[in-house]
Amino acid sequence: MSEKLVIGNWKMNGRTGRNADLLRALKALPEVCREGVGVAPPAAYLGQLAAALEGTPLALCAQDVSRFAGDGAYTGEVSAAMLADLGVRYVLVGHSERRQYFGEDNAVLTDKLEACHQAGLIPVLCVGETLAEREAGAALAVIRAQLSVLEAYAGRSLVVAYEPVWAIGTGKVAETGQIEEIHQEIKKWLLQCGRGADNIRVLYGGSVKADNAEAIFSVPGVDGALVGGASLDAETFKSICNAA
Ligand code: 13P
Repeated sequence: MSEKLVIGNWKMNGRTGRNADLLRALKALPEVCREGVGVAPPAAYLGQLAAALEGTPLALCAQDVSRFAGDGAYTGEVSAAMLADLGVRYVLVGHSERRQYFGEDNAVLTDKLEACHQAGLIPVLCVGETLAEREAGAALAVIRAQLSVLEAYAGRSLVVAYEPVWAIGTGKVAETGQIEEIHQEIKKWLLQCGRGADNIRVLYGGSVKADNAEAIFSVPGVDGALVGGASLDAETFKSICNAA
């Protein structure tokens, strides 16, 4: 696998002024402002970031997309075509917070993947087990069931992110052995379903910080990171990008 990919998921954080400050800082850092790094602001600020990132190698990413591909009467929705129009490259699909708080299931995610494909966007399919599922020995079965949406996905461009739910925002990082096991299983599954795991990056996400990034990136099968809280501080995000 080629260069690692690091995406900063800002989640529901930011204001125009704060975003401008953070972007100014990120653009001044060559460790961050390069190919292989992306930022995913809330949808409300995609336009602001599109303008600020114009002419830079930083990839603009979206945190979500509508399941409906065509324009029309879908109040509150943002379509894949709109994201593409703004210059978005990657779209998070099925983040655990979307699954948990917005009831996104495989039927919804199948449509979102197809919408991304039609608009030429690269989906980042997020998978991961809860603590209860892990403790019940069901982590792999859960992840395989989440990956099964890819069987209907017609596109070739794809990134997968393994984010154990119990490691998100908790400061608890999965052990390197656990990360390696799941990443290898994901790659095996991608191969089995004819996806050619060689050109699909599998990112790790869940409490990635400046002090654990190097260890995480050195785990075999880790092709990058999806970073939440630590992406909101330019110096911290720099350290993580530098370790990639
Ligand atoms: P944290 O890095 O804040 O744990 O969030 C991880 C995540 O959910 C990224 O999408």
